[in-house]
Amino acid sequence: MKKLALHWKIIIGMVIGIIFGFIMNSIDGGKTFITDWITPFGTIFINLLKLIAVPLILASLIKGISDLKDISKIKSMGLRTIAIYIGTTMIAIVIGLSIVNIVKPGVGMSEDTITKIEQKYQNDAGVTDKLQKASAQKSAGPLQPLVDIFPSNIFKAMGEAKMLQVIFFALFVGICLLLIPEDKAKPMIDIFVSLNEIVMKMVDLIMLFAPYAVFALLANVIIAFDDTEILLKLLWYALCVVVGLIIMIGFYLVLVKSFTGKSPLWFLNKISPAQLLAFSTSSSAATLPVTMERVEEHIGVDKEVSGFVLPVGATVNMDGTSLYQGIAAVFIMQVIWPEGLTFTNQLIIVLTALLASIGSAAVPSAGMVMLVIVLESVGFPSELLPIGLALIFAVDRPLDMCRTVVNVTGDATVSMLVAKSLGKLKDPKPKEWDDNYKPVS
Ligand code: ASP
Repeated sequence: MKKLALHWKIIIGMVIGIIFGFIMNSIDGGKTFITDWITPFGTIFINLLKLIAVPLILASLIKGISDLKDISKIKSMGLRTIAIYIGTTMIAIVIGLSIVNIVKPGVGMSEDTITKIEQKYQNDAGVTDKLQKASAQKSAGPLQPLVDIFPSNIFKAMGEAKMLQVIFFALFVGICLLLIPEDKAKPMIDIFVSLNEIVMKMVDLIMLFAPYAVFALLANVIIAFDDTEILLKLLWYALCVVVGLIIMIGFYLVLVKSFTGKSPLWFLNKISPAQLLAFSTSSSAATLPVTMERVEEHIGVDKEVSGFVLPVGATVNMDGTSLYQGIAAVFIMQVIWPEGLTFTNQLIIVLTALLASIGSAAVPSAGMVMLVIVLESVGFPSELLPIGLALIFAVDRPLDMCRTVVNVTGDATVSMLVAKSLGKLKDPKPKEWDDNYKPVS
């Protein structure tokens, strides 16, 4: 398998994982075998990626900022990043709302199907869990998200992988390194330069394991599907989301071509390992180290840009999630609360889906938790909420996998745009896992 490109190896792992999952699904004791003996390897892989995410953000951002030599550049990078993030997210929501209003996947669903779905999922632990999490999120004050950016204890922030807090700390350290005399800053900068190299090498090594890990992750996803009849009933809704997500990817490719002049195929080829991992893990946070490695080493974005734009993006920029929230909210209303489908309510959805996607955690199915808040913002009756979530629950996991791909691709695209506008998009110099291996061995 040595000569095969990484993304092909990952795709082969995924396909075998899916086939294996289906085979085990049809064998007695197959599901337990996968849970006990296969899934743990996927978990180990995700743990390893999470393990290096915090040191990677710290090292990459502190080194990047201290390279900038000019504090005003940080401001212009920050403003551009946030403005483009908000712009692409709004576009995603408008695309989602247009599709769901044209196709109307929820209109005409039979009472029989609704009752069946209701009975099966309304009291499902997954649905109740989302409702509970949403009400915990709601009870916080309006400025809580702002307060949450400022850590009181950096070790706690790192331990709990609070991305925005770690980013704030890294920016703070980076700026102070610019403000103190160069000879005093240098030893600290050297440490972070070295830490950055080490963590990037760790990404290379962990990725050697990726084809096997995605096999485990996908086999585990397949055994969770049991009711194909319900899945088929939700096909139109699911297709609306998938088509919207594909349009969004097309939009990114147009942005890449028109603003950076790079070929869209080249971009897809370079970023694909991160996209495949996003698909397999359903988590932009777990994918972050790989996204950073691909964007810095294979696409050529400077560290000071990628170190800021990507971790911030993984946390706040979720175009796939916001597109899905727009479609899911309207779909649910079409099925069980059509009287709420006014133009004003759809405008409210644009705004709340924007905020909800910013507030969604970069972990599996976080988008569904925040969907509750989107629905509540338009006055959706609270007694119907469990039925609403039950309606879309059966297809949420596959849609989560797809929207996470878009979330990650969006972050990578914006990092290229910001880098280009600041003159920080260079020719990439990829490093392979076995660079320096011979001298050591
Ligand atoms: N799983 C998504 C992510 O990590 C969030 C979501 O839409 O649920 O980006």
